[in-house]
Amino acid sequence: MSEVRPPVAEADPKAAARAKYEPVIGLEVHAQLKTASKIFCSCSTEFGARANTQVCPVCLGLPGVLPVLNERAVLFAVMTGLAVGSTINRRSVFARKNYFYPDLPKGYQISQYDRPLCEGGAVEVLAEGVRKRIGLVRIHLEEDAGKSLHPEGKEGVSTTRVDLNRAGVPLIEIVSEPDLRSGAEAYHYLTKLKQILVYLDVCDGNMEEGSLRCDANVSVRPRGAKEFGTKTEIKNLNSFRYVEKAIAFEIDRQVARVEAGERIVQETLLWDSARNVAETMRSKEEAHDYRYFPEPDLLPLDLTPAWIDGVRATLPELPDALRERLVREQGIPEYDAEVLTETRALATYYEEVATRSGQPKLASNWIMTEVNAVRNKTGQPIESFPIDAGRLGDLVGMIAAEKISGKIAKTVFERMLSEADGPEAIVQKHGLLPIDDEAALRALAREVLAANPGPAAEFRGGKEKTFAFLVGQAMKQSRGRAHPEKLQAALRAVLSEEA
Ligand SMILES: [Zn+2]
Repeated sequence: MSEVRPPVAEADPKAAARAKYEPVIGLEVHAQLKTASKIFCSCSTEFGARANTQVCPVCLGLPGVLPVLNERAVLFAVMTGLAVGSTINRRSVFARKNYFYPDLPKGYQISQYDRPLCEGGAVEVLAEGVRKRIGLVRIHLEEDAGKSLHPEGKEGVSTTRVDLNRAGVPLIEIVSEPDLRSGAEAYHYLTKLKQILVYLDVCDGNMEEGSLRCDANVSVRPRGAKEFGTKTEIKNLNSFRYVEKAIAFEIDRQVARVEAGERIVQETLLWDSARNVAETMRSKEEAHDYRYFPEPDLLPLDLTPAWIDGVRATLPELPDALRERLVREQGIPEYDAEVLTETRALATYYEEVATRSGQPKLASNWIMTEVNAVRNKTGQPIESFPIDAGRLGDLVGMIAAEKISGKIAKTVFERMLSEADGPEAIVQKHGLLPIDDEAALRALAREVLAANPGPAAEFRGGKEKTFAFLVGQAMKQSRGRAHPEKLQAALRAVLSEEA
């Protein structure tokens, strides 16, 4: 991977120290697969149910029961692997990861260890204007654990409650190569990964509901060094912005330690988003601490090449392909296509506006500026945006045909946010028709000159600059409806005839 900018001397002492080191970051992302039932039983995965109502002997880990693999979970994991160019292993093996925790009733988690479902692949990200490939180590299937809750008990006594609704919910763990170099790159990588999962419709990407969780492995090494430094793992990162902040925090902490001649201790840190600090949670466990062994209750997962090819054939168009197609078919800049493919729905909306108006670039401009400005304010997805693609397409068409000015179009757009009519009807109803009739424009010019005798006299006296002021006044008087060139002609005509 290419080096970032050369070290710059800055006033910030932290930045100066940071410049001497290269951060190395790898992410482990857990994504909840959008199946109706859990991975090894038929319990519902629906979010928000009353605690411990979506459980059965299998996910409670009661003795004498056997897990049965959910085929849809395998399908979704393979779709993800194919989408990022992983090798899909024809045989993968489930393994028990043994550890004790109150939210893990079986005393082990069924995961995959030395024979995961997918290996390799990459995610391409656009970070600060530069395209970069972030390699993937693996993607494997596993079950989620339950959830511990720590409500304040009677008289301040702390209590712990366990909700096992989530125990056995299917997850994929996506492990990146240590290819990331900053918190910002991690942010872009996560955004892209989420985009791919949502395009595939295999994960809802909802971080608030825990559908997407991330742990970050962070280390630093002197610039130019080949060997990795000792890494720490930050957990509890439940928003992409926290990931970015926590990584930046941890880089600074490690750099300060190394600069002070201290050693980095391999440990697990917990991010406290309220105080913006990462604190020691426990010393980092090694793989052997989990005593992995093959899950004896499940057969190895064998997939046929024909089945894998069948999955490949049904993959939807993915963000990169869609972006390239928009550039090719609509002739819009790559930047526009990047913005417009944020979600599949936004891209579809754009394509409809472009087709309806016959104006691909103007359609793109209107969506990127006016539509997205409103959406950023309201947080609305495009699916519930009050102006549908048909009405916006008609508006863009009217601007292109010079039926209305861009300025009037903005007024019409504002009206359309709260009114159901099409742009033509709104123009009629609110008297927004342009004034391009010569007689009307001359009448307007006379009115304005009468109201501004001083500037009018100045102009006649040779002060050409005053003309712009008069044009502005006339435009204001017409509420932006006057045809700009024709208005100027009318003004000059009136000024000269009265001179
Ligand atoms: Zn169950």
